[in-house]
Amino acid sequence: MSWTRRQHALLREIGVPLWPGAGGVPAETVVAAVPMAPVAAPVSPPAPVTARVESAPPAMAAAAVEPVSAPEPAPAGRAVPLLPARRAAAPAGLTPHPQAAEIASMSWDALREAVSGCRACPLCESRRQTVFGAGHPQAHWMLVGEAPGEQEDLRGEPFVGKAGQLLDNMLRAVGLGRGEASPEQQVCIANVLKCRPPGNRNPGPEEVLRCEPFLMRQVELVRPKLILAMGRFAVQSLLGSTEPIGRLRGRMHEYHGVPLVVTYHPAYLLRNPLDKARSWEDLCLAGEVYRQAMAAG
Ligand code: URA
Repeated sequence: MSWTRRQHALLREIGVPLWPGAGGVPAETVVAAVPMAPVAAPVSPPAPVTARVESAPPAMAAAAVEPVSAPEPAPAGRAVPLLPARRAAAPAGLTPHPQAAEIASMSWDALREAVSGCRACPLCESRRQTVFGAGHPQAHWMLVGEAPGEQEDLRGEPFVGKAGQLLDNMLRAVGLGRGEASPEQQVCIANVLKCRPPGNRNPGPEEVLRCEPFLMRQVELVRPKLILAMGRFAVQSLLGSTEPIGRLRGRMHEYHGVPLVVTYHPAYLLRNPLDKARSWEDLCLAGEVYRQAMAAG
């Protein structure tokens, strides 16, 4: 496949080599021989498609630029089913969000309001503001990160710092973005936590559990065709798995019927630039999984 000059430039920008003509792709990577249309991907990956579902464990414990509008009911026949009304039981010793049941049936606007007023854990004391999410509320691709950092806490938008710039560059390289675009091209971005943990420390288990109903409801309302879980907290929250990313990536998982692909968190990639090539493979896999989901209706 031929690459445009712009695509070359983008890949250079994120530090990703072009697909190696021979060799370079790890054996476990499962990617398509087909470009990621309609995601406008500059991808011509080498291996045949055998995307397989790896797991569908219970959820435990997500947000994005302001959504353009509240989601409308998904059209009949759209592949992603609603998530089960009954949530997984809270792990012993942890207390779920006291309004979990109400959150489970909230509209997009009500959910946004509930997030902004949430006082279910001590993070509400130190946050400047909540970070609900960004992008298209009916996006086909939903990206889930960890928690707002300093910049996000200041601006009220997810992924606006350095990690966000890298994420935007990577998305652009496959024809996606968070700016104004159709649901096919504009992603929805959410975090596991809606409030910044002080000093950018890791999210605590209780914080993750309290915030979980918000992310679950976001997924239900967006009903994406594909979820990209970025980093270990997104993976732990959505898949309930503590396996390292390196073991979970390269194959398809499921979150309540929604195909899910695991990849590294952009902040990790900033610290470990050699793994950018792997995350590029993950994007390619995600593109193929998405393409298959669309083909299946
Ligand atoms: N890291 C995340 O996981 N989310 C953000 O919104 C910003 C940085």
